[in-house]
Amino acid sequence: DHIFRYYVLDNPTVTDAHFDKLMRELEQIEKEHPELRAEDSPTLGIGGGFATTFEQVDHLEKMMSLDNVFDENELNTWFERIDKETTEAKWLCELKIDGLAINLRYENGVLTKALTRGNGTTGEDVTLNVKTIKNLPHELKGKKVPDLIEVRGEVYFPIAAFNELNASLEEAGKATFANPRNAAAGSLRQKDPRVTASRPLSILVHGIGATDTQFNNQSDAYEFLKGFGLPTSQHFKVLNSRKEVVKFIANFAEHRHDLEHEIDGVVIKVDQIELQRKLGVTSRAPKWAIAYKYPPEEVVTKLLDIQVSVGRTGRVTPFAVMEPVLVAGSTVTHATLHNSQEVERKGVLIGDYVVIRKAGDVIPEVFDVVRDLRDKDGKEFVMPTNCPECGSKLIREKVGKVESVALYCKNKACPAKHLEGLIHFVSKKGMNIEELGEKTVEIFHDIGLISDYSSIFHLKKEDIEGLEGFGEKSAINILDSIKKSRDVMLSSFLYSLGIRHVGEQTARDIATYFGSIEKIRKVNEEDFASVEGVGEVVAKSISEFFADAKNSHEVDLLLKEVKIKSDKKKEGKLSGMTFVITGTLPSMSRDEAKDLIEKNGGHVSGSVSSKTSYLLAGGDPGSKFEKAQELGIKIVEEKDLREMF
Ligand code: ZN
Repeated sequence: DHIFRYYVLDNPTVTDAHFDKLMRELEQIEKEHPELRAEDSPTLGIGGGFATTFEQVDHLEKMMSLDNVFDENELNTWFERIDKETTEAKWLCELKIDGLAINLRYENGVLTKALTRGNGTTGEDVTLNVKTIKNLPHELKGKKVPDLIEVRGEVYFPIAAFNELNASLEEAGKATFANPRNAAAGSLRQKDPRVTASRPLSILVHGIGATDTQFNNQSDAYEFLKGFGLPTSQHFKVLNSRKEVVKFIANFAEHRHDLEHEIDGVVIKVDQIELQRKLGVTSRAPKWAIAYKYPPEEVVTKLLDIQVSVGRTGRVTPFAVMEPVLVAGSTVTHATLHNSQEVERKGVLIGDYVVIRKAGDVIPEVFDVVRDLRDKDGKEFVMPTNCPECGSKLIREKVGKVESVALYCKNKACPAKHLEGLIHFVSKKGMNIEELGEKTVEIFHDIGLISDYSSIFHLKKEDIEGLEGFGEKSAINILDSIKKSRDVMLSSFLYSLGIRHVGEQTARDIATYFGSIEKIRKVNEEDFASVEGVGEVVAKSISEFFADAKNSHEVDLLLKEVKIKSDKKKEGKLSGMTFVITGTLPSMSRDEAKDLIEKNGGHVSGSVSSKTSYLLAGGDPGSKFEKAQELGIKIVEEKDLREMF
């Protein structure tokens, strides 16, 4: 069922990682009890079934799968197996693109057939659709084109284009794709090639099947394919030692989200063709290659409940409580659901099986619902109308004429907001009181040891010592850490106050502009709005904060406790100037240009306004160019910028 869903319907109900796990379990069972192996066991085939709409065509040479390893131990076991045959191996490492395997047949240099993997022996003829892929040549270039060659590759959906496609499908009220791989498979298996042509599919080739040409090394074959104008990956490397292989794997584990396409691991091949022949193949996969799979970033688990939390700004956010599940290397029990509209849009019911995604450092989120696994007693989530902490009626905020999607508790004395405020105050980007972690703040707050921000500075050793879980040493550590925080940068202090709309960057902009807390407390809304990067809404929020008597009193109390240092402005030739960057610059990326401007004392903003001094424009500039022209902002090129300093 899972194979059918994956290959034919492009609509799997389990993640790839779960599938792999089931497959290995089955393999293990069959190893221990060979009598139980069914004639059509998936362990015998290469995976894949067929939709009936495409003609079935044999591959000239069988398309193999790859065996998988999931950690360094398993990788070492594989290395040891190779060692028994040869110690001469060089390792060709390449990225395992999470796409759709394709076999391309070129006869006399012309693309005559493109087939899916199918069962490895026979695939589906998707030639017309594959021909719509823009980076794939229909004819090989060069003089020494072989009479016949099968080229193996992977068709993928670039991540950025995938996000756009899903957004537009969603807008049109159509079903979205769960991930780029499904989008690639779904796009490639369209009955109408014109639909495929409208999707920005890409392909990279990484192997050769039947051919009349001989190679010494796999890596030579890549050079050869590249010479014909076929798209090959830039990320492959031939390595001499296992240590380097492990490093290659670790490097891309860290950078897997910096690539244009998704990867789910690294493929390691013995580079020398002669050694490949010596090592041979099993019925399913070559012995001379292995796929190292990264830990999954998407897993399926059961949604036990949906609860809401109240943030520091009073914003009420629904979150998922789930059966604990291991994702991207850590155990997760909670995931965000953003807001009640999002819950509705996803159609999540309490009791559903849900797909959890955790990529990189981001907070885990409920990404999708597995509807096919839903049972009858799923319960609908109802967003509360009152604050779960203080009982106040929740309201939507108005920004101009637009109503906020999120609900807010507006009770200034709401204990939830208070606690979240304290947690924000001591956080790393704020006062940075390292020893006061979230849990500790919660305990101290709950027993009344701390209330306002300034009360933190009145904590005594005897208050903490003797509390359950706190000894003398931890009391001393906490007090030391509070003491250390008393010297604070103005920007960090501003951030720690938890003023609505004032994030790290805004706090820094305001701190460098005004230079002192005294000045900031004196100026008005208009003054705030004249700071680059500060809009009307933000300016209003800051001036309201300092105008509030209670806040003002709290700041007075804090100023008795802390010593504020002003943020240094970077001085340079571009001091006081604000730049906006658009288009492609001739010799540097936009980030490099930003660094350069800031190093010279300038400021870079994301949008053109009357406060912009210069628009730095490269090739193919965006709408910012027209906006700058409209406002009469001076437009400069990279060479002009360089002349300025
Ligand atoms: Zn409340």
